[in-house]
Amino acid sequence: MISKESMNNFVQARESTYGGVRRVGSLVGKLGETGGIIVLGDAAHSFPPDLGQGVNAVFEDVAVLAHVMDTSGNHASMKEIIEAYEAQRAADVDALMRIQTLGVSMSAGRTSVLGRLGLLNKLVRLVLSKILRGWIYPNISEMVVEDISYSEIMRRADVTTFRLSIAAVITGSIPLLVYLLQ
Ligand SMILES: Cc1cc2nc3c(=O)[nH]c(=O)nc-3n(C[C@H](O)[C@H](O)[C@H](O)COP(=O)(O)OP(=O)(O)OC[C@H]3O[C@@H](n4cnc5c(N)ncnc54)[C@H](O)[C@@H]3O)c2cc1C
Repeated sequence: MISKESMNNFVQARESTYGGVRRVGSLVGKLGETGGIIVLGDAAHSFPPDLGQGVNAVFEDVAVLAHVMDTSGNHASMKEIIEAYEAQRAADVDALMRIQTLGVSMSAGRTSVLGRLGLLNKLVRLVLSKILRGWIYPNISEMVVEDISYSEIMRRADVTTFRLSIAAVITGSIPLLVYLLQ
């Protein structure tokens, strides 16, 4: 199915590395009175493929833009539409960038200390989310496949981190309390 030339090219190809997590400062470029440029997809937000979100994020960009255009009314100017798009999409793109940054560090080498801590963190969240449903949420990599926004995923991840930190402080304080009360 593959030509000999393609096969040779593939075999001789050098491995390359992915770029980091990057987003443009604004989703809108060169905004003027009559129009402007909206930056979508990898051009607006790029990241390694670890969490498999690149195409999904592009589809969301397009869906949000289509929604803004559908609901802006017939008299809305291009400028208004572009500004409305950025206002609606920016928070989710910010959350997506945080998700990707955390996702990249979580998958940093399974054998490294960081990688093992990441796996432990994932396991703890997964197990506790089944016991304390709605109070503790699973790891980001589990939540990205759910039908919820990137902002909501980060909110749940932050709430869980806060609650687990409080639980860790309380658990860690018990031996000290017992010691002091003796
Ligand atoms: C190995 C790998 C695995 C991935 N796995 C997943 C996954 O499992 N799930 C997922 O959701 N995402 C995944 N992604 C990410 C996903 O492929 C990208 O996020 C997605 O393709 C971005 O779409 P895009 O339209 O923004 O950009 P692209 O798909 O890169 O499209 C840009 C197009 O513009 C063309 N172009 C560039 N410069 C010019 C020019 N000057 N003139 C004309 N044309 C030009 C390019 O040739 C290209 O066709 C993966 C990416 C990689 C590399």
